[in-house]
Amino acid sequence: MEFSRFNVDTLMQITNRPSLVFTEGRGMWLTDHRGKRYLDYLQGWAVNCLGHSPQCIVDAATEQVKKLINPSPAFYNAPSIELATLLTDNSCFDRVFFANSGAEANEGAIKLARKYGKVNKNAAGENRYEIITFNHGFHGRTLATMSASGKAGWDTMFAPQVPGFPKAELNDIASVEKLITDKTVAVMLEPVQGESGVIPATREFMQALRTLTRERKLLLIVDEVQAGMGRTGELFAYQLSGIEPDIMTLGKGIGGGVPLAALLAKQEVSLFEAGEQGGTYNGNPLTTAIGAAILKELLKPGFLQSVKDQGAYLRQQLLQLSEKHGLDGERGEGLLRALKLGRDIGPKIVEIARDLEPAGLLLNSPRPDLLRFMPALNVTKEEIDQMISMLSGVIAQIDKV
Ligand SMILES: *Cc1c(COP(=O)(O)O)cnc(C)c1O
Repeated sequence: MEFSRFNVDTLMQITNRPSLVFTEGRGMWLTDHRGKRYLDYLQGWAVNCLGHSPQCIVDAATEQVKKLINPSPAFYNAPSIELATLLTDNSCFDRVFFANSGAEANEGAIKLARKYGKVNKNAAGENRYEIITFNHGFHGRTLATMSASGKAGWDTMFAPQVPGFPKAELNDIASVEKLITDKTVAVMLEPVQGESGVIPATREFMQALRTLTRERKLLLIVDEVQAGMGRTGELFAYQLSGIEPDIMTLGKGIGGGVPLAALLAKQEVSLFEAGEQGGTYNGNPLTTAIGAAILKELLKPGFLQSVKDQGAYLRQQLLQLSEKHGLDGERGEGLLRALKLGRDIGPKIVEIARDLEPAGLLLNSPRPDLLRFMPALNVTKEEIDQMISMLSGVIAQIDKV
């Protein structure tokens, strides 16, 4: 079918999309409306942690859709209890609330922290509600999570913003300490900043943050929407630094492609009372059955080790590529990595790579001087080699002009 036959103007224009309509996906590959194939290093924005339509999702979804889709969040259902049990058994948290997007899970984390600050008031008997977040951080696109994000311009885009999110600098503990007031209740961060270009918080910084927040009776909230669920080679990114946060949010990989997210908290912080938190689709058996199937795959012996191994291999290949083309090296954790281009050729690379024939390559350039790689966690060495060879050709082509 011709692209012009699709009536794309019926959709709101929320981003500039290429003139392609994707129709099928399997593993690391996508197919468009003309039948052209693409090696996909976006994977729905780090969402398809086992690639496009893995067998475990096909099976779990098919079975669950026949059994029960949604009895309403007013009743218990078995898949949500199974997934919550798997999550709490394999993390430092005790309680789970399921949501449908990362932003919604983060809204829940913000509400939970504010509730904590209401129950644990300051010395003057006032509610504590300020949550220190970070410049260049990303927490979602709802009003509160936009305010919590540290993206330039986001504070005025839909003003007035939600107050109470002073911004510190990642990996600078003094910048956090300086912002603490008698209204502060929590510090919230991504253990690896994703959208800002894959910038890991250091182990020392995470440990200093845990010590500081304990001393000042503040909650530590980790937004693992992008870095959680095995992406870094640990099941959760906070495990890289050997600390235990009070609250964690998950999204993206937890659903393997379907809308699922989670808010996790330690028992003493799980302060919601009946009526304070909810949502029509939250914890429905269809998406949580898929989430449970995914998590069981990630927990299979050797799986996380293979993420570490493939991450190390991707790192090595990116470093070689960087050397070959005179680029600026790479950074990241596990299979969330960035190639530093040293000049603003990212958008150009993305475009040329996508238009390669006979098969295209899908890449992401979160900043003009950077490429980000978010392959499926079960990506093979061959699929890494193939990407590197395609990318090398694209960079050589740009170097020539
Ligand atoms: C993607 C992302 C979000 C937002 O998740 P949505 O599902 O798009 O609402 C929040 N935090 C981080 C760290 C993310 O990467």
